[in-house]
This record gives sequence, C-alpha cells and structure tokens, in this order.
Amino acid sequence: MKQYIVKIKSIEPATHDVLKIITEKPLHYNFTPGQATEVSINKLNWKEKKNPFTFTCFPNNDFLEFYIKIYPSHKGVTNELLKLNKEDELIIYEAFGAITYKGNGLFIAGGAGVTPFISILRYLQSKNKIGDNKLIFANKTQKDIILFDEFKKILGKNFINILSDEKVEGYAYGQINEDFLKAYINSSIKNVYVCGPPPMMNDILKQLSKLGVDKNVITVEKM
Ligand SMILES: Cc1cc2nc3c(=O)[nH]c(=O)nc-3n(C[C@H](O)[C@H](O)[C@H](O)COP(=O)(O)OP(=O)(O)OC[C@H]3O[C@@H](n4cnc5c(N)ncnc54)[C@H](O)[C@@H]3O)c2cc1C
Repeated sequence: MKQYIVKIKSIEPATHDVLKIITEKPLHYNFTPGQATEVSINKLNWKEKKNPFTFTCFPNNDFLEFYIKIYPSHKGVTNELLKLNKEDELIIYEAFGAITYKGNGLFIAGGAGVTPFISILRYLQSKNKIGDNKLIFANKTQKDIILFDEFKKILGKNFINILSDEKVEGYAYGQINEDFLKAYINSSIKNVYVCGPPPMMNDILKQLSKLGVDKNVITVEKM
C-alpha cells in the first residue's frame, strides 16, 4: 500500500479531549469530503500502528486537517499523538470511506463521529448549497462538542444538539431515541447519514427502521 510521510504544521487542542492536527499534503494526494485515511506515527515502534482518521479540510486545500479524539487510557496511537509537536511526522495512506454526500438529508453524529460531516458541511457551505441539511450531534456534555460555533454558523436552527450527561438550557437531554428522531424524519426523507461509535449506530439504525426509513437511503460509517 502506498504511503506518504507528512510533517505536522500545527497541533493544538480543539476541545478538552480532541486535537486539531494540520499536516503537509502530498503532491497530487486526493480524497472526497467524508473520506478517511489510515494514519501512523513516523517514530520507532509506532510506524506499524495504523488507525483511521477523517479529513476535515477541503480536497483542494494545500494542507490536510484532522480532528482526533484522544483516549489516554488506551495507551495507543491517540495517546501518543499528545507527545507530538510541529515538524514531527505522520504516515498516511490512500483515502477510503463509505460516507460521501448523496444529497440533502439528515446527518446524525455521536462524538468524534462528526468528523466526516465536517468536511461535507464545510464543502456544501462553500458552494452555497447547504440547503435544508440538518445535523443532530450527540455528546456527553457541552464541552465535548467539536466546532460548535462553526456548525451553528453553517446550519443555524438545523444544528441540533443532544447531551446525555448534562442538562443545559436550549439543548435536548438524554440519548437519541425513536421519539426524539421522529421530529426530524418524514416519509419523503431522501438521505440519512449516520456516524458514531458502534453501540450508538446499532441503536439508531434500529430506531430508523422502526420509523419506517428505507435502509437504501441510509449511509453509515462506524467509528
Ligand atoms: C473510517 C473511520 C474514520 C475515523 N475518523 C476519526 C476521526 O476523524 N477522528 C477521531 O477522533 N476518530 C476517528 N475514528 C476513530 C479512531 O480511529 C479511533 O478512535 C482511534 O483509532 C482509537 O485509537 P486509540 O489510540 O485510542 O486506541 P488504539 O491504538 O486503537 O488501541 C490501543 C489499545 O487500547 C485499547 N482499547 C481500544 N479501544 C478501547 C476501548 N473502546 N475501551 C478500552 N480499551 C480500548 C486496546 O487494548 C488497544 O490495543 C475513525 C474510525 C473509522 C473507522
């Protein structure tokens, strides 16, 4: 598999447990909004440990951008990213991924599962084609929400937050369930995009099925 070594241009916190990493972009490297790549760290003992992360920039930017949730307790790749600085190197591979934009619809994300939707929604906004797309974004608490201000600006009232572990005025509270989803689903819905941790995805797919959403209109990516 082809690999590309890219230098980190900047690495900074985006939330209390998410890093925003910008790297060089290899010449002629290509992806579509919503796609990901395997990433490893170009350091002894870490080169072989590849984890998938999603591009959040535009395909025509001259850099690559990632938002990466860090799990210190795993002692894995994401924890190791915490030790990196500008000029350190990552290794990336070809782009892949199931989530590409197929038309107006409902995006449902849990935590870092929002990353494929960042570049899709940014791209649509840049083309003035944000339309009636809606994003339901599920997080534990308010401080976990990635890019709140930007999503609010892009989507306005179509940016819907739900928090499972914290009651905050103006936010829905609890887990996404059938009752909650009902308000955003109708029989003519053309596309539903779902991305999040496997248990959440399984629940949401069951709920969508109960609400009569045809599985052919659902695009999923498990994280
Ligand atoms: C297509 C795709 C795109 C993705 N894009 C993004 C993205 O843009 N941003 C993002 O933040 N995430 C993304 N993810 C998820 C991301 O790949 C994982 O969260 C990340 O690889 C976890 O790495 P880690 O360093 O925590 O653990 P790893 O290096 O995967 O594992 C290290 C060790 O931690 C332990 N471990 C692993 N998982 C758990 C667990 N759940 N509980 C307890 N112990 C565990 C295991 O012992 C494991 O050996 C994506 C996933 C997919 C499939």
